[in-house]
Amino acid sequence: MSEGGAGSGQLLVVSTPIGNLADLSLRARQALAEADLVAWEDTRHTGRLLELAGLRARRLVSLHGHNEAARSSEVVEACLGGATVALVSDAGTPAISDPGERLVAAAVAAGVEVRALPGPSALLAALVVSGLPVGRFSFEGFLPRKGPDRRDRIAALAASPVTSVCYEAPGRVAATLAELAAACGPERRVAVSRELTKLHEETWRGSLDEAAVRAESREPRGEHVIVLSPAPAPTVPGAAELEEAMRRLRLAGLSAGDARRAAQALLGVSRRHAYDAARAVDPA
Ligand code: SAM
Repeated sequence: MSEGGAGSGQLLVVSTPIGNLADLSLRARQALAEADLVAWEDTRHTGRLLELAGLRARRLVSLHGHNEAARSSEVVEACLGGATVALVSDAGTPAISDPGERLVAAAVAAGVEVRALPGPSALLAALVVSGLPVGRFSFEGFLPRKGPDRRDRIAALAASPVTSVCYEAPGRVAATLAELAAACGPERRVAVSRELTKLHEETWRGSLDEAAVRAESREPRGEHVIVLSPAPAPTVPGAAELEEAMRRLRLAGLSAGDARRAAQALLGVSRRHAYDAARAVDPA
């Protein structure tokens, strides 16, 4: 097909729709129809996609979580032999919480040209409609299901200075939102998107405690993405607040130096701010 250099094999990482067939790009169609080999995750999903799109792949090979390691070398061999291989997953972008990462790494290591045919991904779709800061974000995939790993990851999200995006299964959304509310505080902003690009698409935006109550009160349906706003930046006290704290510490009997050091530690201000306030409270 026309995507590659003459005679050279390549691996094409092809994004497919996350619900709406019209999101299948022209380049993705061409790749699926013309690739020498399509590496797909699940026969049912990709078979249905090809059928709906009126496409027929030349040759198909399954590549899923259980056989990716073994299959990757076969696929890389095919690329090295000159084949164009299109990698697709059940929905969205391969390797994003889907098989593909190991195959791409193996192809890169073998010197195979790897190219993206970009397109739908629930991650970016949910992020850009969240209304939350998008300049910096972290993609968390699916959170660990239980135990210390889950606790630690939720604690890290609570403290994160950037927006966090998590995938979640419908049956676990309410519990995850409740745990996030407990860790981040009830007022933290969140956007919960479900069924993106589908008939019942919905994005709900509000506070974590409202989100948890809402999710608990209805039967969860469809695929969900949770987008969590960053932890609020710590507020630095102004000069008046700092001086007032120091005056109180002085009245409580602390020396000028001890009051300065205590106020600096308690309010988390810089040494210079603490010195300025100390001079205002105890002019030399
Ligand atoms: N590779 C896919 C991508 O690029 O988005 C993600 C695959 S992952 C196995 C499936 C998860 O993605 C779902 O559990 C859900 O969290 C999210 N997801 C996929 N499609 C979605 C949709 N239409 N609406 C909301 N979330 C979706």
